[in-house]
Amino acid sequence: MTVGRFAPSPSGRIHMGNLLCCLLAWLSARQKDGKVVLRIENLDTARCKRPYAEQMIDDLRWLGLDWDEGPGVGGKDEPYYQSERTALYEAALEKLRQKGLVYPCYCTRAELHAASAPHRSDGQVIYAGTCRHLGEEERAAKDRPGAMRLLVPDEEWAFTDGHMGRYSENLARECGDFLLRRSDGMFAYQLAVVVDDAAMGVTEVVRGSDLLSSTPRQLYLYHLLGLTPPEFIHFPLLLAPDGRRLSKRDADAGLEEAREKLTAEEILGRLAYLGGFNPTAQPKSAKELLSDFDWEKVPREDIRIPEGLFEK
Ligand code: GLU
Repeated sequence: MTVGRFAPSPSGRIHMGNLLCCLLAWLSARQKDGKVVLRIENLDTARCKRPYAEQMIDDLRWLGLDWDEGPGVGGKDEPYYQSERTALYEAALEKLRQKGLVYPCYCTRAELHAASAPHRSDGQVIYAGTCRHLGEEERAAKDRPGAMRLLVPDEEWAFTDGHMGRYSENLARECGDFLLRRSDGMFAYQLAVVVDDAAMGVTEVVRGSDLLSSTPRQLYLYHLLGLTPPEFIHFPLLLAPDGRRLSKRDADAGLEEAREKLTAEEILGRLAYLGGFNPTAQPKSAKELLSDFDWEKVPREDIRIPEGLFEK
């Protein structure tokens, strides 16, 4: 059975890009009579706040995007807030540690972002491996806790995305040893998302193409942890009318304003129009969109929201 999921981070009020993600994940799973799980990705407790999570839950319900397991519904994999699942991440980290693949890193932010540091295609720094070969004594001499990094091989990790086609990355050259846990103890998204999707039996991950380049790292973690990866389906990002990336912090193309002026069907119909599976912007319920939805209709290039589309 298909199991899809919503995995929003409650770091602000939901925007149209987050919403398109939930809509596509819901349609893709429901069209195959699959289940949907809602998991709240609130590892970053400084940025992710409970009221935002509660508001998100209310927004999704209002839009008619329902879930079978998750907050408010319960399910076999409770809890559904990542902040309450750290024992699982700790166990996975320990498993990787026992394979001799984890090491502490003491580099400061300034050291990591030195002018000469090579960068990934997504703008992140490729870790130079500075702390990889520290001896026990050198580690013991550090006066602060280290972050934990995963040693990656000089290997190409490739997969075929359900919508974007083939994608591959050489983990050592294009990514570098990546973080599993920050020095303040916060587990990294890459580790938590793999542990949770596997634990929750997710078979289909639908998400924005900004996470395409995270997928080889996640596939490598599935491999090391002996877990079966889901199918990955990435879709293009929605951009603001001026071409900027949407951001929860900017309240860009936010649902809050749209919800005051428009019905759920009006919002979903317009999103589906942007997604290529509603011929015009006419209002449609999530259920009505089930018969129109087809991944083949969804564009593969980023989509600019026309000025005023969600205004009235
Ligand atoms: N929590 C992530 C976000 O809101 C999504 C992670 C994922 O879909 O893998 O951007």
